[in-house]
Amino acid sequence: MAERTREQVATFVTKAAAVRGWVANPDDSFREGVEEGLHTNVNRYGYFLCPCRDTYGSRSADRDVICPCVYAQPDIDAYGYCYCGLFLRPDFAESGGEISPIPERRPDEEA
Ligand code: SF4
Repeated sequence: MAERTREQVATFVTKAAAVRGWVANPDDSFREGVEEGLHTNVNRYGYFLCPCRDTYGSRSADRDVICPCVYAQPDIDAYGYCYCGLFLRPDFAESGGEISPIPERRPDEEA
């Protein structure tokens, strides 16, 4: 598969936020850091593995954490932002809330 560019990743993030009714983190340096991780992962693994998590070894084992992950909506509902802080709830973004670490919802890898 052709290498994805940083611009394609930024477009993916913008579109994903629009489709889900979220806001991409307006802090440029924070957002670009997460996008850089997505860029590395999509070119390394071939899918948008969450940049804040480790692979469990295959696309199927990682299907819950392919961005936007299945944990994003419950975290956004509960805290105002996803685990990486890439996507925010609009009212949280407007209030200028700070991103701080939140609990991991992903179950541990099965042995
Ligand atoms: S926590 Fe989920 S939605 Fe947020 S960047 Fe990682 S995979 Fe994407």
